[in-house]
Amino acid sequence: MKTAAGSVTGLRCLACNAFYPPELLYRCTACAGILEVERAKPFRRWDPSDFVREEVTLGEGGTPLRQVPSSLLHPDFRGALLVKDETRNPSGSFKDRLVAAALSRAIEFGASGIVSASSGNAGAAAACYAANAGIPAIICCPETTPHGKLAQIMAYGATLERVSGHYGNSFQRAMELCDQHGYVNLTTTYLNPYGVDALRLVGQEIFEALGGILPGWISIPTSSGPLVKGVFQGFLDTAEQVPRLVAAQSEGCAPIARAFAGGQDTVEPWELPQTIASGISDPLQGYPEEGSHTLSLIRKSGGEAVAVPDNYIKDAMVALARKAGLFCEPTGATSLAACRRLFSEGKIGMPDTVVCIITGHGFKDFSAWSDVEAHGIPS
Ligand SMILES: *Cc1c(COP(=O)(O)O)cnc(C)c1O
Ligand SMILES: [Zn+2]
Repeated sequence: MKTAAGSVTGLRCLACNAFYPPELLYRCTACAGILEVERAKPFRRWDPSDFVREEVTLGEGGTPLRQVPSSLLHPDFRGALLVKDETRNPSGSFKDRLVAAALSRAIEFGASGIVSASSGNAGAAAACYAANAGIPAIICCPETTPHGKLAQIMAYGATLERVSGHYGNSFQRAMELCDQHGYVNLTTTYLNPYGVDALRLVGQEIFEALGGILPGWISIPTSSGPLVKGVFQGFLDTAEQVPRLVAAQSEGCAPIARAFAGGQDTVEPWELPQTIASGISDPLQGYPEEGSHTLSLIRKSGGEAVAVPDNYIKDAMVALARKAGLFCEPTGATSLAACRRLFSEGKIGMPDTVVCIITGHGFKDFSAWSDVEAHGIPS
């Protein structure tokens, strides 16, 4: 069989190396391992036409990478600080990239509806794209999900099911609903390999926007880690090497950072997530191997997994708005908060180039801003 460079050849199990044709499959049927899309090499640029005839798109991706004042990182930092502004996506987070690809693929498989478990943003993205495609969506969210995100999901006309307890319960419920209705699961952990594959474009875009120069560090708000994987693979595709990647987590839910600090290879689930960073409050209960895979990529890149307290995250969030005109939700600012810590620990150097991915929009979580003091008019 002739395969064009970059085209999808199938799905590969990361645990046992089993190979499957590119069908609708969430996990390895032999060992339940994580599946990844395999492509004919060389692969340089992700494009939906690689695996779908008809693409569902709302103009996601192609987000700006822009330089912001270095002092946002630290007054002594002399290098370059750039933000990859993923708040610009149609529903306000990078999840749109994943959902657009996974939904396009689902429709090829004849999907009559979709289900997504979500801490808010993935559900908003799924609801948004399902509305545009004219198919029903059921979204399962933890009860603690910010109201702005729930309102957004309902605005797009999806069926919202609020599930008690942490994200893991919503994850299980989504699988049940898929079985019941015969819908496709668009949950944005490593569960849907076609969605995860689309995130390679984030790494490819950053390398391209930097004019083919490798930055020192890329910091990424991290839950189970598909975005880390996308950046990792995207740099391998284009640069054939990977910058140091930072998995940025909140101290209130930091399974990957805890394993990194403890020198472990396997990630244990977090007990009780408690953080203002709702987008990364996944304890990985039921699928800690996803965290272990992400941890392995962080280590391969020579990077760091860092947990920061909520007040650091909030300070970084406010600074981004006030010094860079970038209005984000707490989760989105976790990348900058982690880099501030790495600089103060001497890990990020004075002259480095640092890219922070800002993953979600401030409009999604007004409550996080409600106690932020107004500044007086400067005299
Ligand atoms: C989902 C999400 C993340 C975490 O991404 P993963 O790829 O699941 O690790 C980070 N930031 C925001 C705003 C999100 O919605
Ligand atoms: Zn397997």
